[in-house]
Amino acid sequence: MSYLVVPGSFSPKCPLYVKNDFPTNVHSISYCKCNFMCEFCFFKYYKNTNKYINYSAEQFELLVNQLLSKGKMFKFTGGEPTLNKNLIRDLYIVKKAGGECFLDTNGSSPQIIKQLLELKLISLFGISLKGLSASEATKRSGIDNQGICWDNVIKSMSLISENSSCNLIVTYVCYDNFNLEKLIGFSKILENFNNVYLKINNFQPNLDHPTPGLLPKDPTDLRQIIKLFLKDYPSWKNRITLVDGPKAVSDIKEVIWM
Ligand code: SF4
Repeated sequence: MSYLVVPGSFSPKCPLYVKNDFPTNVHSISYCKCNFMCEFCFFKYYKNTNKYINYSAEQFELLVNQLLSKGKMFKFTGGEPTLNKNLIRDLYIVKKAGGECFLDTNGSSPQIIKQLLELKLISLFGISLKGLSASEATKRSGIDNQGICWDNVIKSMSLISENSSCNLIVTYVCYDNFNLEKLIGFSKILENFNNVYLKINNFQPNLDHPTPGLLPKDPTDLRQIIKLFLKDYPSWKNRITLVDGPKAVSDIKEVIWM
């Protein structure tokens, strides 16, 4: 399998883990392929970088044992990690070594999520919801298949939320047209799921690869929208994370917990 490994990342961005004081020592294991082409994502420009390394099972086990001395959390991310035929084998390698696994996914493969849950390999899932409706998800994900980019994703969220031993962070990337109504819509989608945390990533333009028509929300307005939302929906208090700007990707002090 081909991975880009970054030791000591800052993750997961979730109030639950801030409390436990261990979000800055997670090893990020990024898989090299994705089945989506999200309009806001820059993976497509970087997936062929020579930073991805092919590891045999033995090499991966060796790496995991080396990384364990710096932190026991491993986040499998991507790209889309559920496309990786060796995912389960590699999760077992981490677990056998005494590590703990998180998984970031686009949720398109509920059958694999089900398997991971049955095997109890993941303690925290992060799912990125590509839209607040099936049509928006179809447009933003770049794949013309509602079954994969919406129905399967909702099914994956449902499977995770039914499993009391896992928590779930659901992320939505907002643009300049984000407003209170959209945030309420996001929360309504999530309200039927247990153990779920809501995360908003403000769109981050990439100067190397500008995306026509996409702009971030004004940061002050975005914070105001969340504050207004929390007044009417206080049950979401301490369950919202705002990632606004490039610094917040890697610096815990830049992340807003609300
Ligand atoms: S699913 Fe994730 S990695 Fe794949 S294109 Fe979308 S945002 Fe990027």
